[in-house]
Amino acid sequence: MDDPLALRLASTIRATRAGLTDAFATPEGLTAWVRDQDLSPYLDASRFTADEPVRAEIAELRQAVRALFARAVAPSPLSSADAPNLPPFPEALARVNAAAAPLVRTLEWHDTWQEDARPTVDGDAARLAAALANAAVDFFAGPLPALVQVCPAPRCVLYFIKRHPQQEWCSTRCGNRARAARHYRRQT
Ligand SMILES: [Zn+2]
Repeated sequence: MDDPLALRLASTIRATRAGLTDAFATPEGLTAWVRDQDLSPYLDASRFTADEPVRAEIAELRQAVRALFARAVAPSPLSSADAPNLPPFPEALARVNAAAAPLVRTLEWHDTWQEDARPTVDGDAARLAAALANAAVDFFAGPLPALVQVCPAPRCVLYFIKRHPQQEWCSTRCGNRARAARHYRRQT
C-alpha cells in the first residue's frame, strides 16, 4: 500500500550508512521528489522546477509537518533526526494551516456534468505548499495518526504507520537489521 503524501513528505529525511540524508537538501533534490508525486489539481508536478528560495520554504514546511508527527507519537520519543531541528508545536500547526490554501470546486457542463477544482493561490511554490499542507490536514484529521510510530531499528529515523498489530518496524529491511543486531547482542 502506498504511504499517504504527508508520510512520504516526512520520510524525505532518512538514515543511510553514511548518516542522515535530506531529499530537500538541494533544489534539484526537491525538484526530483516533486516530479515523482501526483499533486493534481494543485500542481502539474511533472513540470515543476525548484529554486533555492522555494527549496528553503518547502524544507521549512516539511519540518513543520514533522513537528506534527512528533506530536502524534508523544509521549514516545520523536524521530532522533529532529531533536534540535523542529519548530515548536503551535508554530508548526500555524505554519501548516497558513499554507493550506483550499481548492475552489466548480461544476461544468461539457455535454455531461464534470467537476473542476482549482487552488486559490497562484505560483508553483504556493501551490506546492498548499498541496503538501492539505495532505497534512487530511492525514492528521483522519484515523492514521494514532497508528504512527518511530521505527526502532538501529539508525532508522523514519516515522511509519503500524498497519498490523505484529508490525514492529518501518520495513522488512529494518526488521532484518534489528533482529540481526539483537542476535549479535545475545552472542556477545
Ligand atoms: Zn526503519
